[in-house]
Amino acid sequence: MVDSRITLVRAPNPSAMTLSGTNTYLIDCGNGAAACIDPGPPLDRHVDALLQRAAELDLRISLILLTHTHPDHAPGAPMLQARTGAPIAAHAETEFPHDRGLHDGEIVRIGDTAIQAVDAPGHTFDHLVFYEPREGALFTGDVVLGEGYVVIAPPNGSMRAYQRTLARLLDEFPDARMIYGGHGEPVRDPQAKLREYAAHRESRQREILAALQDGPKTIPDLVRSIYRETTPILWPAAARQLLAYLIALEQEQRILSRELSRTLSQDDHAILNPEWKTIVGEEHARTVEEELGAMLRLDTLREYALR
Ligand SMILES: [Zn+2]
Repeated sequence: MVDSRITLVRAPNPSAMTLSGTNTYLIDCGNGAAACIDPGPPLDRHVDALLQRAAELDLRISLILLTHTHPDHAPGAPMLQARTGAPIAAHAETEFPHDRGLHDGEIVRIGDTAIQAVDAPGHTFDHLVFYEPREGALFTGDVVLGEGYVVIAPPNGSMRAYQRTLARLLDEFPDARMIYGGHGEPVRDPQAKLREYAAHRESRQREILAALQDGPKTIPDLVRSIYRETTPILWPAAARQLLAYLIALEQEQRILSRELSRTLSQDDHAILNPEWKTIVGEEHARTVEEELGAMLRLDTLREYALR
């Protein structure tokens, strides 16, 4: 990223959920001021790295912006604030402590730079994307990543809201030249990436509807058929993802569901409500639970059918 006013500092929190770690960005906003997007997990050594990088660039961090408040993106913010005095700006509806609540379309001015906040629900209801027009940079948090796809999991995630967000970004930012996502590498062709993301969602939904053509199925049935090529470690994430589609399809009255009276088998249980601590370890369990909506227990089996 030579000549760019944008510097990526990756947090040392790699995992299945965070890929190689959470991306924190410093934007040189002019007049020696930097905005910091997503200070990441609560790790002193990451906050140290951010301050060091800012000092090397001759910048002082004077604004902290949050795309969303998942444990791998936001808890570093108050730590960075304690060391810089920079205010925290976040989605107006988030419960995470912040100094300034941002609404859709609001412009944040810092140095000689104007950064636009874009309401971008779907991954969570209180997610923002930021646009910096001079660099043509879209900071997408967990809406678009540098590799792979995003988990959209109820209760805080909504598939249709997410698809509308993708369509809106494609529509309203034709001049975007780069996507800087919350994980993975920067993306050089934002429009192609957004189209790929939208197409992926549509093809997954077609697979679900095709699987239901063979008769009614539970979420574990659908996981075992649609994700048969995927490592079973990722099946619980797949299950939550399918739930997001099924909720949307049922609301649109394309499918219907009923609760089954039989109890969950061991296998069903392992897919629907796994013990995250034993799978990913204590350190990452909270992030995974938030990302996958594990607070929503799936203790009964529902069967889904085409209408
Ligand atoms: Zn997230």
